[in-house]
This record gives sequence, C-alpha cells and structure tokens, in this order.
Amino acid sequence: MGFTQFVVKLHSRCNFACPDCYIYELRDSSWSAQPRVMPRAVMDRAARRIAEHIRRHRPREARVMLHGGEPLLAGPERIRGLAEALRTAWTGLDTALDLVVQTNGALIDRRYLDVFRQLGIRVGVSLDGTRESHDRRRRYRSGRSSHDDVVRALDLLRTPRYRHLYAGLLCTVNLADDPVDTYEALLAHEPPALDLLIPHGTWEFPPPGLTPGPRSGSGRPQARELPYARWLVAAFDRWFDAPVREVPVRLFDSLVELHLGGASTSEVWGPVGSDVVVVQPDGSIEQNDILKAVHDNAAHTGCHIDSHDFDEAAAHPGFAAERAGPAGLCAQCRACPVVGICGGGLRVHRYRPENGFDNPSCYCADLRALIEHVRARITRSLHSLARSRHEEVTEGGFFPGLGMPLDKKPLR
Ligand code: SF4
Ligand code: SF4
Repeated sequence: MGFTQFVVKLHSRCNFACPDCYIYELRDSSWSAQPRVMPRAVMDRAARRIAEHIRRHRPREARVMLHGGEPLLAGPERIRGLAEALRTAWTGLDTALDLVVQTNGALIDRRYLDVFRQLGIRVGVSLDGTRESHDRRRRYRSGRSSHDDVVRALDLLRTPRYRHLYAGLLCTVNLADDPVDTYEALLAHEPPALDLLIPHGTWEFPPPGLTPGPRSGSGRPQARELPYARWLVAAFDRWFDAPVREVPVRLFDSLVELHLGGASTSEVWGPVGSDVVVVQPDGSIEQNDILKAVHDNAAHTGCHIDSHDFDEAAAHPGFAAERAGPAGLCAQCRACPVVGICGGGLRVHRYRPENGFDNPSCYCADLRALIEHVRARITRSLHSLARSRHEEVTEGGFFPGLGMPLDKKPLR
C-alpha cells in the first residue's frame, strides 16, 4: 500500500514563536540544518517522485500539504512553482490531487490567494480560538500579537472570490482556555471544517498539564485529573448538543463515526496509524513530523528523493510500525476494551526512552475517558431516538444530539 499524504516542507523557518511548537521547541533541532527555503530543483524532483508513487499505486485521491515552518515565507512565486510542477507531473493520472497549504495565516493577502485560486490550492489556517487564547501562544518572533493579521486574512479568505479555497481552521488545545469559548470563537470565522490538536509530548516529556506516568510498561496509568478529557468533553458536548450541525470537527466526527461503525479521518483515532510522509527542504524523506517530539532525528529515514523512491522509504521500520495496526500496539492497548476506537493514540505519544513505543499513549486515561463519554452520549441519543419512533425528531429531520441529517447517519 502506498502513501496518500505527502507533506512538503517549503520553508524551514517561521515568523511566529509559539512556545509549544513541535518543530522548534520540543526535542529535535534538525530544522536548523535545513536550507531556509526549498530550492526550485528540489521542488521539481519532489513533484516527480510523488507523481511516480501515485502512478504506481493509483489511489483514488492523494493530498499534498504545503507546510513549514511557515510555508508562505517561501513567497507566492515559489509556491506557484511547486504547484505547477505537481500539476504537470500529475498529467494522465486518475488520482484526485488535493493540494492544501497549512499556514499560520499572518501573511495571507491577495497575491497569495490569487496564486492559490489559479492553482487550486486550498488553505488551512491555524487559529487558537479567542484573541486572548490566540495571543497566549501564537505571537510573532518579536512578541507582537498576530491575532488581528490572522483575522484579517480569514475575512479576506471568506470573500466570494476566495471562499471556495477555505479548507478550515486548526486549533491547538490549551488547558488555560475555556473550551466552549474557544469553539464559539472559531465558529465565528465560519470555517467549513475544524480540527482540534492536542499538544505533542511523550511519557518522558509530557504535554503541558500531564504529569509523567508510571515508569513500568504495564498497568493502568496513574490516577490524574484528566485535564484534556475534561476540556474535550466540554467542547464535544457544546458541538454535539447544537440543534443543527454547525461545523464538522474532525476529531469529534471521527470518534462518532468509529462508534457508529464508520471510519476515522483523524490520525488520532482508529486502528490504522499515520499515512504521512514528509519531504524536507533539502529533499530528505522523513516520517511524520510530529515525531520531532521524541528526540533529535527521530523522524529521519536516511532516504532522499535523489536516491530513493517513496516505496524504498516505506520499508523503514518506522513506517511499518505506523501501519502495523493493533498487532503493533503494547500488551496493555491490545487488551484494552476501547482499542478499536482509540488505536493506542498517536504513536509519538507512546514513546518513553526505556522501551521506545511499546506503551499506551501518555494521553491514555484522557483518551479513554473521552471515548467513554462519547459512547455514552451516542447511546443516550440512540435510545432517545428509538423512543421517539421518529415522531419527535426535530422538524428539520435532524438526529437529536448529533445535529446531522438522519439519512446521513448509519444508525445500525
Ligand atoms: S506558527 Fe506553526 S510552525 Fe510557526 S512557531 Fe507556531 S506552531 Fe511552529
Ligand atoms: S485507552 Fe488507548 S492508549 Fe489507553 S490502553 Fe486503551 S488503546 Fe491504549
């Protein structure tokens, strides 16, 4: 099985200085040895390598994510160059190409948006909720607030000329923020989709607000306050209880879908791991970037687009471990009653130096509490729906508690 998600690092630096950035502020410093911007020759070779891989595996669709650092620092013309190289290399392929740029939003203006419009590049923007929560972390390197610039960019993106390019908002969970205020602040920017990101960390260096867990590889994690479960449960309930479906939230939709027998579109949930491969500005091929939370060079594969194709890179044990499914999880996860939903969480969160990734997630207790809450909410909604025998279904034909059209939900 080939890769279908390619992250191309157009620029290795950023104009922001977010204190919990997994690229610059956690365990890896390899970004500093990368060229600042991907040279044109590397872009052309990366485009050809990606298309060659797609031609061999012929998936129905593939996503190429333009990423950084801050990818817009590469400038609109360099972004145009990569997009044109990809579109040219794609000639004759049946696979749908989803071209997306993930940006902090501050540099977005008409010059960029006209390039994105011409080349069919969708735009995902990172925004951390309210002005107060956004400015707590997402500041320029000078320390200046970025909130007004990002909001101005979102206003422009929502105008009729560019609205179709708006892919959605990405928000990192911060325990200091109110979850309902955060959700509603994001909603105010009318995103077509939202995703919530829990901060990256490991058992060795836990995410903010989590205490280091037990040092042995077995047994339940020590009792904690479950701060992430509490935050996410409050946000989930606000989203789930809306009388209409306000916005898809990938983290929550995937959880609901898995409970109803569907599939996850979020790499956080489900038995299948990440399908991401990364091309760095120097052309080296790496595993999922979030492994930078583990240690220096944890994402390295030793492969390069000049000398390896993506199938050769896929032979790296790290990619195999991502795809191993439940068989690749630790004994505690394999025996866990919610493993079919949780899937052991993200691989990066399982790491501890003593035994590598052979552990449950450092978010284990939080993930389990959230899963059990969602299961209880869905069960209650299904019971209430059954009792209503359809007469009490709201006028618009919405499934109470899910805010979704009845004909869209597999109610089996
Ligand atoms: S904007 Fe993104 S890449 Fe830049 S410092 Fe913040 S989290 Fe890191
Ligand atoms: S909740 Fe998730 S991480 Fe924890 S034991 Fe179960 S499958 Fe593993």
